Amino acid sequence: MSAGVVIAGGGLAAQRCAEALHRGGYEAPVRIVSGEAFAPYDRPPLSKEFLSGAREADEIMLRPQGWHAEREIELVLGDPAAGLDTDHRRLLLASGSALRYEQLVIATGSRARMLPGSERFSNVHTLRSLDDAVRLREALRPGVRLAVLGAGLIGQEVAATARGRGAHVTLVEAEPLPLARALHPELASWLVGVQREEGVDVLLGARVAELEGSGDRLEALRLQDGGRVELDLLLVAIGVQPNADWLPAPVAQLTMRPEIHAAGDVAGGDHWELAAHQGRAVANAILGHEPAAAPLTSWWSDVHGVRIQGLGDPAGADHIEIDGDPAARSFTAVVFRSGAPVAALAVARPRELPRLRTLLTPSTEPVRKAA
Ligand SMILES: Cc1cc2nc3c(=O)[nH]c(=O)nc-3n(C[C@H](O)[C@H](O)[C@H](O)COP(=O)(O)OP(=O)(O)OC[C@H]3O[C@@H](n4cnc5c(N)ncnc54)[C@H](O)[C@@H]3O)c2cc1C
Repeated sequence: MSAGVVIAGGGLAAQRCAEALHRGGYEAPVRIVSGEAFAPYDRPPLSKEFLSGAREADEIMLRPQGWHAEREIELVLGDPAAGLDTDHRRLLLASGSALRYEQLVIATGSRARMLPGSERFSNVHTLRSLDDAVRLREALRPGVRLAVLGAGLIGQEVAATARGRGAHVTLVEAEPLPLARALHPELASWLVGVQREEGVDVLLGARVAELEGSGDRLEALRLQDGGRVELDLLLVAIGVQPNADWLPAPVAQLTMRPEIHAAGDVAGGDHWELAAHQGRAVANAILGHEPAAAPLTSWWSDVHGVRIQGLGDPAGADHIEIDGDPAARSFTAVVFRSGAPVAALAVARPRELPRLRTLLTPSTEPVRKAA
């Protein structure tokens, strides 16, 4: 009997891959191997509804309890992939056991980058997993002084959620404006304005020179310009690095083998929709189906109760058109490069998204192998 598909990693890409295999009638075994103790869950709520207390852990699972067993999809939890024997098609687990595979999917996602030198402090957090979110949520009490290092999407969301929970928040960003890859500068300035209106202290162009602490407690960030940010808690949100160090070779090299595939953040993505698409695309490749077109880059965020939805890539933009009222936090923006629309933003206007998608003419390039 075929050894079937082994999916290393138990997040969104893994889940969507297993679902698509099941839907497509794949008959050999499908196993999901996760380093975490939980069945696949959704990460976006970790910085939003879970952190605010509006949703609990059982409400962010991607599928209800029992879903995998009912479909004979085996969950191997709490035993991370630790190595790969490509010659004998075996995935080696940290516990010492090994799983044979016919097809392997690498979907181990990424982890938060740490600030060098901050590891010894017990009040320094990162946010990637449910365990991280539980720890941060417990520490976020009203009146606590939270510094957030890095004003990317996760930093923006945690700053907003923490403010909503009564924390005093300082958002520290090294660049003159945040989110350069996702937002046109005018829109990034608008978002900074929203944070400030809500009482978040936003420091731009602020680089950390020194960590000041006593024992295992970090007490302040000393900035290169001489400024000082006093804190009770620090969230480090300065980006991610792929969970690929357990692999014997780079992902791109391994996926040149026909029986090895990759999907999600470990394969270079960093958004929910792309990870979901790549998980399904890998399943389609295994099933021998025609590849689907790659989706337009898309992401969303919730900040101070406002839903922000972004499409496309604003790099090199030379013109922007805004429809609506940014001051009222309800508008759409279309960003152009050499006369062509390349990116769009909908703020509190979810119904405009289909129109904006059409305007940006999605890529029709087929995805054959996600890597
Ligand atoms: C707090 C937060 C908020 C976010 N908000 C948004 C948002 O609003 N919009 C948006 O578009 N995107 C958002 N994202 C990004 C989105 O969640 C990711 O792009 C998506 O989860 C990627 O899916 P993945 O399956 O590739 O990786 P993951 O979801 O990270 O799953 C990877 C899994 O593999 C496990 N793993 C790691 N190493 C091993 C190993 N060696 N062996 C076995 N298992 C392993 C991990 O523990 C994890 O369970 C957010 C992410 C975070 C962390």
